[in-house]
Amino acid sequence: MMKEAEQGVGVGGDGVRVAIVGAGPAGLFCAGALLRSGESVRIDLFERLEQPYGLVRYGVAPDHPEIRRVSRQFEKVLAHDAVTLRTGVCVGGDPNVAALRDAYDAVVLASGAEGRRRLGIPGEDLPGSYDAGDVAGWYNGHPEHARHTFNLDCREALVIGNGNVALDMARMLGRSRRELEATDIAPAALEALAASSIRTVYVVGRRGPVQASFSQAELRELAEMERAVPICDAAELALDPASRTELEGLPPVSQAAFERLCSYRDLSRPDAEVRIVFRFLRSPMEVLGDDRVEGIRLRRNRLVGEPGHLRAETTAEEEIIPCGLLLRSIGYQGLPLDGAPFDAGPGVIPNVQGRVTGLPRVYTTGWIAYGPRGVIGTARKHAAQVAACILEDLRQST
Ligand code: NAP
Repeated sequence: MMKEAEQGVGVGGDGVRVAIVGAGPAGLFCAGALLRSGESVRIDLFERLEQPYGLVRYGVAPDHPEIRRVSRQFEKVLAHDAVTLRTGVCVGGDPNVAALRDAYDAVVLASGAEGRRRLGIPGEDLPGSYDAGDVAGWYNGHPEHARHTFNLDCREALVIGNGNVALDMARMLGRSRRELEATDIAPAALEALAASSIRTVYVVGRRGPVQASFSQAELRELAEMERAVPICDAAELALDPASRTELEGLPPVSQAAFERLCSYRDLSRPDAEVRIVFRFLRSPMEVLGDDRVEGIRLRRNRLVGEPGHLRAETTAEEEIIPCGLLLRSIGYQGLPLDGAPFDAGPGVIPNVQGRVTGLPRVYTTGWIAYGPRGVIGTARKHAAQVAACILEDLRQST
């Protein structure tokens, strides 16, 4: 495989040869931007899995087809004569980053954030406690998760985390068979979810409703489901003075998300089979159960610090919520790539505007560059900026 790359002419010959590690959204947006630049480029995309598109294929919830539609753009990138997709290649083993650097004019590391964060509490690994990323992989037919089974034979589920992935989890657990059938969900997951006994899904955040990372559009969907209703008691929405100040300073789109949560206070759907219940200011302390999850012990929190930087601090007040399914939805984690620097704190490859620190001609984009946050549009914008940096550097070096 590397031989083919080594025969490349590089700048001034066949054009610029670029290796992109990761055929997820970030890598594909970067490839697309390079192709659109009008420069003569040849791109090899290296993908660990047998299928490209990364989180667009294996992370985005199946009931969000409008987000998945971006894969049509990716198809065009992959169909381009100047692009070769090499699947089943795990960069970091063979080849490693140094070998790619020798063989190409530029290397782009777009390996995403495939790691899982841990709560670090007793009982976290009991059967019935799972990472949300594994569940997303399961319902999306990810080869490493498709055969997993999850305990859906219980009345209560609890999702830890207040991001959009937590809402994906709640929605997928609350969807009716009819709603699930209208998606391209993996068949085994469809059957399991349609047969699930879960009737209450708690969504639990360690900070308050103002600090939650939910998007307004994702919150709105919860109120439009066939058999599920979102519930947020007035007590959960009471704000301390610092949160009120913080709310006033938030952009309108974030204020709208808070307003949306407030609108759940008054929702009445007596016919709803599934309740999605929000609980704020609670930190998980222990997963309870002998040989499987039976509940979770939470501690009430208060917020400390300055508005805009409020942190959760536990109090002595405790609460136990019974549940048979616990989903940890506390963010993804970037993983190091052999031959590239790595900042284990945020889990990113250190870089300045995508230029990897200390490694000339090596670039990074996507979640491994700026951390596991942002939507598809964030990845597109960053990848375009990195593509521009690559071309600028190559022009200056010739
Ligand atoms: P996220 O938005 O970063 O949310 C992670 C949540 O986990 C936060 O509420 C965080 O609380 C909490 N958390 C972290 N560590 C914790 C701990 N030890 N104990 C309790 N809670 C903890 O991450 P995400 O939901 O995985 O989403 C990743 C990115 O993908 C986001 O940018 C998201 O918007 C995007 N996404 C978008 C869509 C969509 O557009 N439809 C769908 C899914 C995901 P703190 O805030 O207190 O740290």
